[in-house]
Amino acid sequence: MNLRELAPAPESTAILNLRDSYGLYIDGRWVDAHGGSMATISPATEKPIAEIGLANAGDIDLAVKAARKAYDTVWSRMSGSERGKYLFRIARLLQERAREFAVAETVDNGKPIRETRDIDIPLVAAWFFHYAGWADKLDFAGLGTNPRALGVAGQIIPWNFPLLMLAWKVAPALAAGNTVVLKPAETTPLTALMFVDICEQAGLPAGVVNIVPGLGEVAGQALVTHPGVNKIAFTGSTSVGRHIARELAGTDVALTLELGGKGANIVFDDAAIDEAVEGTVNGIFFNQGHVCCAGSRLLVQENVHDEFVEKLKRRVSTLRVGDPLDKNTDVGAINSREQLDRIEAISATGEPEGASRWTLECAVPKAGFWFRPTIFTGVSTSNTIAREEIFGPVLSVLTFRTPQEALDKANNSPYGLSAGVWTQTASRMLTMADGLRAGVVWSNTFNQFDPTSPFGGYKESGFGREGGRHGVTAYLAAGGAR
Ligand code: NAD
Repeated sequence: MNLRELAPAPESTAILNLRDSYGLYIDGRWVDAHGGSMATISPATEKPIAEIGLANAGDIDLAVKAARKAYDTVWSRMSGSERGKYLFRIARLLQERAREFAVAETVDNGKPIRETRDIDIPLVAAWFFHYAGWADKLDFAGLGTNPRALGVAGQIIPWNFPLLMLAWKVAPALAAGNTVVLKPAETTPLTALMFVDICEQAGLPAGVVNIVPGLGEVAGQALVTHPGVNKIAFTGSTSVGRHIARELAGTDVALTLELGGKGANIVFDDAAIDEAVEGTVNGIFFNQGHVCCAGSRLLVQENVHDEFVEKLKRRVSTLRVGDPLDKNTDVGAINSREQLDRIEAISATGEPEGASRWTLECAVPKAGFWFRPTIFTGVSTSNTIAREEIFGPVLSVLTFRTPQEALDKANNSPYGLSAGVWTQTASRMLTMADGLRAGVVWSNTFNQFDPTSPFGGYKESGFGREGGRHGVTAYLAAGGAR
């Protein structure tokens, strides 16, 4: 897919109209939150952007009831083609206001403006366009007769791709005829709250989309355990995913879990080395490595290891770390102090456990949360840095001799979300793709996303798929969410 086609129109205006404070959006209007409030801050400056109201259990109850009423009285009675029109409208409005959303996402999350402008927001629009196209076709798509929506979907998302994760969840849910209560992550609620304007501009009926920022243990927990919710779609850490699965065990609530990962990026000696270097950089330093499917383990064939690592370090030396609003920046700020502490703590185990550490020497701003791109070589599969999801700009390099050894090492992980293979031998590519226990295997590329492709994990990376046909069937009673 050519993302440039979906990039903001040159004439679009990028005036950021932010409020000083935001409440909750329930039943088509802004209401006060009853769980306190917290500032959302810019991780690049630590300055507050806006004060955000936090939902408590009572607020969640109101949101679920509003979603139920909208489902019963409006949304479930509407034809698919009418629902599709709303989704097309939302997609077009997002395109028109793409620059504004790109700036807001960059300020709230810390990721480079080049990425939000050229990747995140164009993909958000692409997701809505894709699922708009599904809405009027569900009766005829061979999914069984009269597919029915599940009802009210509770959706809980993380901070690494805030608006994109909203799109992955809201677009298929609405296309399939569900109504939504969405809880954004604590540190990145801004673009979800701005999305309310888009829903209103699109004329979406009240209660179809409800946005309820709040703490995970309070608002998230209340949403998961609310008896009026028919489906929980969660993207986040494996530990919280496990907790949610336990909470819902034995209930009839449909569940999709998109959890963590420790992607293996495998480079064979017959790969196009320079392209593989580029792909490796994109695989781990894109979005500061805050990517569930990041290629955080690089497996290089032993006979090209030294050449590859040297080229890799040379390329990483050219990365520009700093102000995410500068369009030349490659690596922005770490999303929160908590995440920075986690990255530092796991990285600190690298050298004592026997790996060699290389860190990009560069200046970083005084305020804000920063971590310089880091590469560990001489890593073994038992090292903490090879096993735990760091979720930061940290690459662990391992070696292998044979394809079987590459497979064994790649699969030696509790996670199974993503992998990449670099080789010019087609048969080897196919054998590897077959043997890798990962939900997505990229061939001579990494970190490519498209709304037509299913995405999801095996093992501790979760279950269920988002994207394409699988993504929409996960919101249908006929469609096997588990
Ligand atoms: P997290 O699990 O701490 O939080 C995710 C969301 O869950 C937040 O909105 C949070 O408020 C909420 N939450 C926390 N506790 C809860 C509870 N008890 N009940 C209900 N909701 C609760 O994860 P995070 O730190 O925000 O995100 C990083 C993690 O997300 C990483 O592990 C990453 O791999 C994963 N992730 C996975 C995918 C994927 O598609 N597989 C995509 C992006 C991120």
